[in-house]
Amino acid sequence: MEGTMRGVCKMAPGKGAEYRTDLPIPQTGDDEVLMKVHASAICGTDLHIYGWNEWAANRMKNLPIVFGHETAGEIVEIGKNVTGFQVGDRISVETHIPCNHCFQCENDRRHICENMKLFGVTEPGAFAEYAPVPKDCIVRLGDGVSYEMGAMLEAMGAGVHGVEKAEVRGKAVLVSGCGPIGLMVAGACKAHGARRIIACDILPEKLKLAEAMGADVTINSMETDIVQAVRRETGGAGADAAIDITGNGRAIVAGLRALRKGGRMVSVGLPSGEIPVNLTEDIIYREIQYTGVSGRQMFATWDDCMEILQSPGFSLEPVMGGRYPLDGFEDALAAIQGGAPGKMLLIP
Ligand SMILES: [Zn+2]
Ligand SMILES: [Zn+2]
Repeated sequence: MEGTMRGVCKMAPGKGAEYRTDLPIPQTGDDEVLMKVHASAICGTDLHIYGWNEWAANRMKNLPIVFGHETAGEIVEIGKNVTGFQVGDRISVETHIPCNHCFQCENDRRHICENMKLFGVTEPGAFAEYAPVPKDCIVRLGDGVSYEMGAMLEAMGAGVHGVEKAEVRGKAVLVSGCGPIGLMVAGACKAHGARRIIACDILPEKLKLAEAMGADVTINSMETDIVQAVRRETGGAGADAAIDITGNGRAIVAGLRALRKGGRMVSVGLPSGEIPVNLTEDIIYREIQYTGVSGRQMFATWDDCMEILQSPGFSLEPVMGGRYPLDGFEDALAAIQGGAPGKMLLIP
């Protein structure tokens, strides 16, 4: 497709990004489709790209580039090596672009590919009118899944992958952190049949939303000791599983201590550096199983997400924070940094 488009571009190393009206519409490669973007969501990663922290500086060597990776839209052009999709298909995008030939890819773990590229980080993304989508990363939206919901699926998938690893059915689960992913985790725990969902955060308005997503109990960790509160809520035993979305060292340690012996801890949130943990007392003697998740299983977790979206009583509406036009992206970033709850969407 010829012509220019509007989009948000990371122009050069350093803080900031630029709204442009003169970006070339991406050429559709043989192994790609061109997606007309209907909605994109803003991720913590986009804040890192805007603010240019070490993580972003280490990965983004190809500026200028359109960023943004949580998105949904419709196919408007198809590369010649792409099969199984048609113009007009409604899709979302898996962010992890696999190489398809490393050990991980060959053993059904493409989401942790050794040579992984990232849509909207190392490769052009979706804060624009059009985005090029690699054929391995196309996800068809289920019937009844709106583009706005579709734009939230990538983030939801990271959380749902954590819920899958925590094996929550019939369990008492602690969910630490009630930002957009934590809210979706709470809802997914419910859909997966958790017996009791205990959500914690430091902001009352986020805890309210967690209740709307199905949390049975909410705890403000500024006011209440998490470990004691979880024990009280579980008849003294402790939680069977804990899912951390905060990445905060103190919250992680509290989560470990709130588990019963033999419980399972899953980290979804990323600490920004090393954190001190007493392995002997908090993990080894208590036989805690601890794992992390990176992205979503391709594509089992996406299927799981589509199913959760259809489950009775589940709604993403409480997670929806606000809708902004592309040229309002700085207002959306400011809202997130100001602690506004829910996911912020950019609508081209
Ligand atoms: Zn993201
Ligand atoms: Zn690979």
